[in-house]
Amino acid sequence: MNIEEKTGILIIGAGPSGLLAAISASRFTSDITIAEKMYAPGRKLLLTGNRRCNITNLHPMDDFYKKIHPNSKFLKHAFNVFFAEDILNLLHDCGVETAEENDRKIYPKSGKAEDVLVALMGKLNERKIYVTCNLKIKSFSLKNNLIDCVECEDGTILKPEQIILCTGGKSYPGTGSTGDGYSLAEKVGHCIIPTYANLVPLETEGDNASRLQGLSLGKTGVSLWINNKKISEIKGELIFTHFGLSGPAIINLSRYAVKDIDKEQSVEIRLDLYPQYDEQRLDFKMQDDIGKHGKMKIDNLFKLWLPAKMADFFAEELKIDRELTAHQFSAEMRKRTRNLMKSLRFKIIGHRSFKEAIVTAGGISTKEIHSKTMQSRIVPNLFFAGEILDLDGDTGGYNLQIAYSTGWLAGESAASNLYRKQRSLA
Ligand SMILES: Cc1cc2nc3c(=O)[nH]c(=O)nc-3n(C[C@H](O)[C@H](O)[C@H](O)COP(=O)(O)OP(=O)(O)OC[C@H]3O[C@@H](n4cnc5c(N)ncnc54)[C@H](O)[C@@H]3O)c2cc1C
Repeated sequence: MNIEEKTGILIIGAGPSGLLAAISASRFTSDITIAEKMYAPGRKLLLTGNRRCNITNLHPMDDFYKKIHPNSKFLKHAFNVFFAEDILNLLHDCGVETAEENDRKIYPKSGKAEDVLVALMGKLNERKIYVTCNLKIKSFSLKNNLIDCVECEDGTILKPEQIILCTGGKSYPGTGSTGDGYSLAEKVGHCIIPTYANLVPLETEGDNASRLQGLSLGKTGVSLWINNKKISEIKGELIFTHFGLSGPAIINLSRYAVKDIDKEQSVEIRLDLYPQYDEQRLDFKMQDDIGKHGKMKIDNLFKLWLPAKMADFFAEELKIDRELTAHQFSAEMRKRTRNLMKSLRFKIIGHRSFKEAIVTAGGISTKEIHSKTMQSRIVPNLFFAGEILDLDGDTGGYNLQIAYSTGWLAGESAASNLYRKQRSLA
């Protein structure tokens, strides 16, 4: 037998966007139900920032617009209503101390993502709002162009006045984000911009990367080339894996590569291991070292210039006789070494799947949502927040900020709709 439950606001999904929507709405009403299909809320939030949670960053708002795609200006109102200082004030208020790290990124001082989740849950519990776990929303039914009934997998029927859809994207599906919200929205008339795995590690041809497996490089010049044209370049960290390349620099560049990889275009990553030196300066350095260490074996000379694993790789790639000593290192050998140092190339033949993607690109078209409220232009009692939207940011706290800001605005707007509706009935 189905149980029918009335509720003012139904929030679907207890990730950061759903929790922020609930905290925001709870300032105006306690008639809120949060449905979460997993056994507990915030499973993905716990994994963020290598379980340390890069909460947000302190770059100015204009920088956020540059790092969010494809239509960051859609977030203008949401950011004006609730931005980085607001989530930090909220967390500080709950006793979470934060610390600024490189590139203005903010983390909990404890280094634990769990503290962020506990704080958000604590805020809700303080207002006597609880998450109903193991409750998966299956379908919506419409009446007079409004969502009238919501069916859950266990047969429960919910009768909400306002609905906020916060089911996230498709990445890391083990956390509960399996793309359910896209089909729920599509069935009530929303257009879904095709989704793809974004911010993903890249797979390389041959065994060059796997020979260097485990090696991580600090500030390296990393450029992305598609059909022999340079598309983008950044300086950053990367790591060699058994399948190819990963690490922040690669993951951030992947956004410009994934579609072309899927279309089987020629995609290449080129590494500049000495981004701070131009060719000439690098040659001076090499000559200087050779002059100082004339009797040194080539193997050891390479180790002056490169991490040990990379030094071996270079000697093999360049087919250099390792018995030679530094003073036998010819101008031609120096040139070949320098060329490889300035442009170590990896042909990209694939990318990792949604299982390993930090974020999902594509989603609910923002053209069908009012940016001032997060309300659907198609179904007026439906709101959206978080990664389900066709918005995604680079690494660095941008994606969580999208979730908090849109969640906060959606919660406030749904509560105000509920209030207006209740007043009109009174
Ligand atoms: C490994 C990893 C590390 C990351 N690190 C960072 C970081 O440090 N900083 C940063 O800014 N971003 C980071 N991100 C991205 C960030 O975690 C997401 O963008 C953010 O969690 C999106 O929030 P959300 O609430 O929209 O969706 P989600 O966090 O995906 O939450 C959606 C929730 O909805 C629930 N749900 C789904 N379908 C249903 C249904 N049918 N019924 C009921 N409930 C449902 C899910 O179980 C889930 O709990 C990281 C992502 C990953 C995968």
